Amino acid sequence: MYKRLFIPGPVDVPKDVLDKMATPMIGHRTKDASILQRSISEKMMKLMKTKNQILLSTSSGSGLMEGALRSCTRKRAAVFAVGAFGDRWYKMAVANGIPADKISSDLGEPTTPKMVEEALATGKYDLVTITHNETSTGIMNPVKEIAEVMKKYPDVIFCLDAVSSLGGTEINVDELGVDICIASTQKCLGLPPGLAICSISQKALDAAKQVENRGLYFDLVEIYECIQKKDHQYPSTPSLSHMYALDYQLDKMIEEGFENRFNRHLEMAKIVRDWAKEKFEMLAEDKYASNTLTTIKNSRGISVADLNKELGKKGYAISNGYGKLKEKTFRIAHMAETTVEEIKEILRVIEEILDI
Ligand SMILES: *Cc1c(COP(=O)(O)O)cnc(C)c1O
Repeated sequence: MYKRLFIPGPVDVPKDVLDKMATPMIGHRTKDASILQRSISEKMMKLMKTKNQILLSTSSGSGLMEGALRSCTRKRAAVFAVGAFGDRWYKMAVANGIPADKISSDLGEPTTPKMVEEALATGKYDLVTITHNETSTGIMNPVKEIAEVMKKYPDVIFCLDAVSSLGGTEINVDELGVDICIASTQKCLGLPPGLAICSISQKALDAAKQVENRGLYFDLVEIYECIQKKDHQYPSTPSLSHMYALDYQLDKMIEEGFENRFNRHLEMAKIVRDWAKEKFEMLAEDKYASNTLTTIKNSRGISVADLNKELGKKGYAISNGYGKLKEKTFRIAHMAETTVEEIKEILRVIEEILDI
């Protein structure tokens, strides 16, 4: 049965966008393929506020996370973790034999500029990974303040996991000085899963060229150079279906206006936060609460699994807590094309089921 998804990815995709996935195929070495891919890049650069090259990858976001870490770490990576997705980045380092240290915050706490400063002051690291928006805890890290610290260490590559925030809140890549900013299609961009996107700076490319074994499929230099040589074409056959949908969806986003889109996300976030404070408790402090999903403390000791079962009968789905936070928290996503009215509706239905 179809359920309206309020989970933090994959998100519901409107029919007109889904239909674009059914566009007839073209050759991936044709001029039309170049035009399509260039068009996506140009629109993505506007969304990310960057002059850096955009790379697309036929994979989920994790592919480019692994690619960034592997391609650009020369000496040692400092992986800042505020939950499951920072932990994953660290696991990728270990699995690839990349020297790395994980610097964790308590669950529900952010990565602070001070933590970044302390780590970088040791001089041990030449790459930093930051989770912009941690989808397990609902924390949005203070990326502007962290970026100020990063600017004091211009030789360090700054990788940002913006998988669950790009398209839902402003990320000014060039102003922040982010070298590699990574996103997936199935979160705030409002598309089916299967394509990942990143921006890459010249500094990151120069760093990568000093790394001997970058792998191949996720070698960011390989992808970059193919784009340069073959006018926005890719080394292997990309998911053209996703690209048609993404190009179309970016037009829709431009039509809505990026600012309006970000404001809509914030408005929904505020509604859920206020509700969470009234009926339950927030996991994150207001200052660090995510604009794209809210992690709510299960302060009433309800069965989240049962709640979701009941919601399912009515055609809705929310998310249980992630990993260690299962049943201790639950998550409501307010991303992509979700409207304020839909958010009010899901909260009303939850109240009705729980009789609160
Ligand atoms: C979903 C998510 C990922 C993983 O992305 P995939 O596209 O599933 O590989 C990484 N980081 C964050 C913050 C996420 O929310």
